[in-house]
Amino acid sequence: MNAAGVLKTYFGYDSFRNGQEEIVQSILSGEDALAIMPTGAGKSICYQVPALMLPGITIVVSPLISLMQDQVKALNEAGVHAAFINSSLTETQIAKAMRLAAEGRYKIIYVAPERLESAGFMQFARNGKISMVTVDEAHCISQWGQDFRPSYLKIVAFIDSLADRPIVSAFTATATREVRTDIECILKLQNPQVVVTGFDRENLYYSVEHIGGKRKDDFVFEYIQRHAGESGIVYCATRKNVDNLYEKLSRNGVSVTRYHAGIDNETRKKNQDDFIYDRVQIVIATNAFGMGIDKSNVRFVLHYNMPQSMENYYQEAGRAGRDGENAQCILLFSAQDVMINKFLLGKKEFEGMDIDDIELVKQRDTHRLQVMEGYCKTTACLRNYILEYFGERPAAPCDNCGNCHQEYYEQDMTSDAKWVINCIAEMKGRYGLNIVIGTLLGAKRARLKEIGADTYRSYGVLEQRSEADLRLLIDQMLAEGSIVQTGGEYSVLQVGDIRRLKEEDTHVTIRKAKEQEKTANRTKKKKTDALTGAGFDLFERLRQLRLVIAKEEAMPPYIIFSDKTLIDMCARVPKNQKEMLAVSGVGENKYQKYGERFLQEIAAFLSENPNAVLSAQIDGEEESASVAKKGRKDAFYLKQEDAEQFPYAEYYYISDIREQLNRICSASNVKQVTLTVIWDYLVAAGLTIEEQGAEGYVKVQTERGLKLGIKTIDKVSQGGFAYQLLMYPEAVQRMIVGYFVEQRAKI
Ligand code: ADP
Ligand code: ZN
Repeated sequence: MNAAGVLKTYFGYDSFRNGQEEIVQSILSGEDALAIMPTGAGKSICYQVPALMLPGITIVVSPLISLMQDQVKALNEAGVHAAFINSSLTETQIAKAMRLAAEGRYKIIYVAPERLESAGFMQFARNGKISMVTVDEAHCISQWGQDFRPSYLKIVAFIDSLADRPIVSAFTATATREVRTDIECILKLQNPQVVVTGFDRENLYYSVEHIGGKRKDDFVFEYIQRHAGESGIVYCATRKNVDNLYEKLSRNGVSVTRYHAGIDNETRKKNQDDFIYDRVQIVIATNAFGMGIDKSNVRFVLHYNMPQSMENYYQEAGRAGRDGENAQCILLFSAQDVMINKFLLGKKEFEGMDIDDIELVKQRDTHRLQVMEGYCKTTACLRNYILEYFGERPAAPCDNCGNCHQEYYEQDMTSDAKWVINCIAEMKGRYGLNIVIGTLLGAKRARLKEIGADTYRSYGVLEQRSEADLRLLIDQMLAEGSIVQTGGEYSVLQVGDIRRLKEEDTHVTIRKAKEQEKTANRTKKKKTDALTGAGFDLFERLRQLRLVIAKEEAMPPYIIFSDKTLIDMCARVPKNQKEMLAVSGVGENKYQKYGERFLQEIAAFLSENPNAVLSAQIDGEEESASVAKKGRKDAFYLKQEDAEQFPYAEYYYISDIREQLNRICSASNVKQVTLTVIWDYLVAAGLTIEEQGAEGYVKVQTERGLKLGIKTIDKVSQGGFAYQLLMYPEAVQRMIVGYFVEQRAKI
């Protein structure tokens, strides 16, 4: 059987994802491999498929017990003989596993790095045929990574001790250059095939909400209410925050549990399982939670506090939407979060590192924190901010994040800026940010009296301003260099280059967000939205069945079938074995175990609802591939009754229009409408045009479009690059909808 056959038979997938095939093929041709792929991209498949095809055994080194257990469960479900050996087993169990391994009963064995040193394991490895050693979470080998594990350094000696050098493959989601070089060098990879797939996770929507104090609690509560029935994680910086929020939410009847290092092991394990097995909806946790959690149907990750680095954030946020369905990542930011993180970093321990290294690590930590703060404060595309940090060069703003959807206005603060300079000059550059702000606002603080700030000319001159505006202004002045902040533990503000400020007609403005409706209905639709009401009823029934089976088998529901697989079942409505095997995520083994029961459930549903239309359309990687083969979908159109559902608004971006069109369309056999199709119509109708500008083609409205009210919104990208987006008024929305109703007649 070839690789594609293995993928289909065992895992039930029709095609490899971006990057997977390259890795699989290079391993099969005997080469080493290093894959850097974001969480959820599908790293496991990259070594599991070749492991099944190579003649001998594959040893997977993995840092976390829970991760191993989950992987092995999933493999066993898929009909693959796999085992794990780690400290959660008794000596007797370990001995048994080793015996079976020696008999060649397992194709894949997961081990903790410490195990590689044990005499028993070494003996087994020398006698058995080891085809490949796979190092999962390979960044743990690097001191520059976030989770350095000294035990990872032992992997090389283990590989060297084998008579025949196996293929070595390494996997990580951490992209920075230092870490990558460390992995290649320390693991002594030989001419590895290095594959770095894009870091973008298209199905994740990012946003940052600037709110402080108790209002965060309200936000979280309301958000959870709006997302009833969806699984979510709320991360907090401290245990105390976890406990407080937990108390508050459970008092308000939210289905919630908690997780942090201060809870005893047993309870912690139980809480984690409650979340994984869908017994509770929400988990509130510190960053201790999540490593090794593969739960695929997490629909949102909220950060109650800002994390310490982009790496942390991306990893934690990335736990949302692993099944490829749309999910949201929302960070609640307040200035206090920066202080908390500085405090936490100050407490960090550096065991066994020499003094130079410690200094270097501290500098990196500080830098990481600044980058993270930058994310919370930028007004440009959030996705691009992340991607640029990880070394990618995104072309255009994503139009699918909080900032891309936010409108801004400018506020003049020229004279305020001059007062900031005066104040710092009066203090002779001896004090930090909080003292400067307190002075300008005329705060009644003992400390200000003590240093005599209340006698300054600048004391209280800006009392009518809000503290938030002043902070925005100072951030901006720091970025421009008119003031500078010294490093070190007691950082103070000093006057920088103020030539520009002295110019006659200079202007200092800050960009402020316009108040507008929150994210609620602006985000991309979920895949379940492609199901009609009846389709959703079936989905719920299949979920119930999955829960029943999960209980019987003592497995997390998502290991039986993912949400994505159930949705695909609702869309395809399989009636026999062949059709069921065509569903994405249904492999031979799972079919044998559960296929019949799901077929029966679907048949029962159909006989109760003979005329049900189950899905509007499904658009996904596997689906579009199989549709392309059959070539059977019609161009997008709307039925009259669908058209009446369109939620007209004063203004929409073109992406909003697309989203609404796809959402309301109930026809079963049509393609999703794309931006290009809508745009082409607008051009054909003489409302918009693409013009050659100084920097390539730009999209603008025509005279006629302008008359109908199409307007231009100015935006600035992360790199300071100005661009424009068009917004379409209700009149134009009606024309577009009308056009797609007409298209129906042509089909
Ligand atoms: P990672 O380890 O990179 O975070 P996983 O290996 O856990 O990601 O894979 C994430 C999800 O994607 C899993 O549910 C997995 O079954 C699914 N997946 C992996 N490869 C494919 C594929 N080729 N087609 C469809 N789904 C896939
Ligand atoms: Zn964006």
